[in-house]
Amino acid sequence: MKLKSAVENLAWPVVQTGRPAELMALQRQFEVSQWWPQEQLCQAQFTQLSALAEHAAKNVPYYYNSLRKAGFRSGKPMNEEIWRRIPILTRAQVRDLGDKLHAKTIPHSFGKTGVATTGGSTGIPVRVIKTSVDSLMWESSYVRELLWHCNDLSGTIVNFNDMIAGKLLPHQRTAHDHGDGVILPNLQTLAGAIWNTGALGLMSYRQPVQKQAEFLLKVKPKHLGIRPTDLRLLLSYFRDHQLRLDSISYVWTLSEIVDESLRGLCRTIFGCDIVHNYTAAEIGYIALQCPSSHEFHVMGETQYVEILNDKGDPCLPGEIGRVIVTPLHNYAMPLLRYEIGDEAELGTACACGRGLPVLKRIVGRLENYILLKSGERRRVEFYHYKLATVEAILEFQLVQKTLDLIVLQLVVSRPLTSEELNLAKGIMSYAFGQYLAIDVTFHESLPRTSSGKLRNFISEVL
Ligand SMILES: [Zn+2]
Repeated sequence: MKLKSAVENLAWPVVQTGRPAELMALQRQFEVSQWWPQEQLCQAQFTQLSALAEHAAKNVPYYYNSLRKAGFRSGKPMNEEIWRRIPILTRAQVRDLGDKLHAKTIPHSFGKTGVATTGGSTGIPVRVIKTSVDSLMWESSYVRELLWHCNDLSGTIVNFNDMIAGKLLPHQRTAHDHGDGVILPNLQTLAGAIWNTGALGLMSYRQPVQKQAEFLLKVKPKHLGIRPTDLRLLLSYFRDHQLRLDSISYVWTLSEIVDESLRGLCRTIFGCDIVHNYTAAEIGYIALQCPSSHEFHVMGETQYVEILNDKGDPCLPGEIGRVIVTPLHNYAMPLLRYEIGDEAELGTACACGRGLPVLKRIVGRLENYILLKSGERRRVEFYHYKLATVEAILEFQLVQKTLDLIVLQLVVSRPLTSEELNLAKGIMSYAFGQYLAIDVTFHESLPRTSSGKLRNFISEVL
C-alpha cells in the first residue's frame, strides 16, 4: 500500500507527521510484539497493568479500597495472583457506580476526554469516558486490520454506514439523505490520511437492498464495508436476481456475528472471504481475524482479555467462557476486569505463529436467556446456522413473548415451502420445545436498535 506523504512533492522516502506517524510507529512495535511467545506478552501486559492499577488506586474512588483489598500495594508490581482477586466489574455496576469509576486526575499527556455510550444489544447501557490515547489505540487496531488483510487500497471502497455522513458537504449530505449514493475522491477516514487510496462510495445502510445493489453495480468497488445482517440481505438479493459483481476483493464487516453460512454465501456470490473483527464501543477492538484463518487474535497490546468459566477460573482451549476485558490504557475511567456480556471459545495456539491469544469464536450475548415458569433461566442455544440453510429466510429474530411462548419472527424473500417451514419449526422445537410453545411469524422487516444492530434474541419477560 502506498504511504501518503505529509510533505508535498516528495516521492521517496515518504515523510509522515501527526496521527499517521504515531500510528505507523505503533505498528512497528506491533510487528514485533505479535510474534512474542504468550509469556513475554503477558509479562509486558502486567507491566502496563501495574501502571494502570497504580493510577487507579490513587485517582479512582472505586479502586481506593478494592485494589488494596485484593492485595495490591502502591510501588509494588501487579501480578496474576493479586489480579485474580480483583472483583469482576459487571455492566450493571459500571452503569450504577457512575463517577466513582472516574479518575480525579488524568496525566495531561493523555489528551482530551470524551464519552462512549453503548449497550443496545445487551439492554444495559453504559457510559465510558476515554482519552485521546484510547482513540489512538482504537485506531491502531483499525490500521493493523488493514495491514493484516489487505495489500491494496487503490480501488474504490463502498461503505454502507452513516458514520461519516456528518462530515459531508451540504450538497453531498442532501444527496446522501435522499438515498442516493455519494462518491468522494478518496477515503475520508484515517486510512486516507495514511495511504493513497481509491474513491469512497457512501450509502446509508437504511436504504433498500435494491438501491444498495444498484449502487454497487454502478460503482464496481474493490472493497465493501457492511454489517453482517445487511450483507446477508444483499448477497441473497444478488443470488435471487442472478446478478454478478466481480470487482469485489474484500468484504469488511463490523459488529454482530459472522458465521460460516454467511462466509460461504459471500464466497459464492462475491468470490471473496469476509474480514470480521470483535469490537465494543466502550473498549475498542478486542480481537481481529487472523490473516490466515477465521479465528480471532486478541489485541494483546491494548487489551488484557480473560476467558473465565462459571467458577471464575481461566478456561482451557476449547472451552467457552465469559469474556472479561481490561483496556490497558483507559486512565480516565479504568475498567479492571470488565465483564462485557459476551462469551467466547478459547482457541489453541494459531498456526500462523503469532503469540497473540486466540479466540476461536465469539458465542454471543450472555443476556440471551429464556425464562422458564420455574424461574430458571436457560441460555439460548439456537441453531441459527441450520436456519440459514433455508435460502428464503433473510432475517430472523427470536422473541420470548410470555413464560409459555417463544416466537421465531422471519423476514423471507418468498413464501416458505411446507418443507422449509417444517425445518424452521423443527429447529425451534429442538431448541425450545421442551420448555415453551413455539410459533413462527412473518414480517416485512425487523426492528433495529438505535445503533442499527439487529438483535437476534429479545426477551419480553426478563
Ligand atoms: Zn493466527
